[in-house]
Amino acid sequence: MSTLSDPAIETAAPLRPFGASIFAQMSRLAQQHGAVNLGQGFPDFPGPEFVKEAVVEAMRSGRFDQYARMHGAAELNEAIAARYSARGLAFDPDSEITVTCGCTEAIPAAILGLVNPGDEVVLVAPFYDSYPAVVALAGATARFVNLEPPDYRLDRAALEAACSPRTRAILFNTPHNPTGRVFDAEELEAIADCCRRFDAIAISDEVYEDLVFEGEHRSIATLSGMGERTVTLSSLGKTFSLTGWKIGWAAAPPHLTAGIRAAHQFLTFCAPTPLQQGAVVALREGAAYVRELVDRYRGARDLFCDGLERIGFRVHRPAGTYFVMADHRGFGHADDRAFCLDLVERVGVAAIPPGVFYPDPTLGRHLVRFAFCKKEETLREALRRMEVGMRSGGRAGE
Ligand code: GLN
Repeated sequence: MSTLSDPAIETAAPLRPFGASIFAQMSRLAQQHGAVNLGQGFPDFPGPEFVKEAVVEAMRSGRFDQYARMHGAAELNEAIAARYSARGLAFDPDSEITVTCGCTEAIPAAILGLVNPGDEVVLVAPFYDSYPAVVALAGATARFVNLEPPDYRLDRAALEAACSPRTRAILFNTPHNPTGRVFDAEELEAIADCCRRFDAIAISDEVYEDLVFEGEHRSIATLSGMGERTVTLSSLGKTFSLTGWKIGWAAAPPHLTAGIRAAHQFLTFCAPTPLQQGAVVALREGAAYVRELVDRYRGARDLFCDGLERIGFRVHRPAGTYFVMADHRGFGHADDRAFCLDLVERVGVAAIPPGVFYPDPTLGRHLVRFAFCKKEETLREALRRMEVGMRSGGRAGE
């Protein structure tokens, strides 16, 4: 093979350590093996019809075919601000909210726009896999604080130990993917304290904010003095079962928004115009949909976690999100990758090996992450396959 076509050599150095995203890898394996896909987190049922109608209408009108305003369609910025206002957070729609192509774009917009080469960014592990990659793209250094099993609480002393005078930002996620933890007041206060002491900003990824079954989600921006040093990120995808629409946003005071927009204008410039019109309708009229979705996911969580426990997994029942972390040590596999490969190839169920969410992959070696944002029949079929497969060493008949 010529050096020019060797992907390991062609790929830019900062990205080389990260390889292909585990979500793409596992979705491909799921398809290849005809597995029930509980890997990448996306619903296997359609999103709400009333939101789609709004997009169809917007498309047919011919008024939404061109670029949207760089920082978001005015009506959407207003709908996002109104939603935050109902949650105790005041954002000016024009100067403090930036619409992005999903939260996955808002993350690099915030990091590339606000973090300098040589700065440090503290990440809470296990983390969403894009965080360390984006920190590397910014030429910054990631420092890590681990949530320790069995309860995955954020430890104040461990967080402090990860901070230094070079800390520019603490980037975290609550409700937390993959553990399903919803950070409580004490944990948020610990993050806020570190931000104040080390003069750092909080970048709070809250895309699962509406998917909470126990406890209450709280935005760190509501804590005293934190509004001026917090970037709050969220999106439409999880709340409205529209992960493919890629509508997200960043909400932050003007001095932070300036950096976010400086990056966003060169990343994507704007999110798809007609889909932004759908987002307006979802946010304005979606309360009943969200209530039903949360009830549905609570039922799915209980059905699935009960099933996993029956099969012999030790389960950390999530308080929020649509993921569950389970301990697979009862089944005798070498590590999380070996377990997930056996599961997808032989048993016919795809899941995520959580080692990729840790700075040291061995920390996730005894765990497996399942997504339960699926139809009841899908979850029952996955459980049936595991019930048979984990016991017999063979694959359940289809
Ligand atoms: N957030 C999703 C998950 O954890 C994946 C998103 C993606 O693949 N970009 O499954």
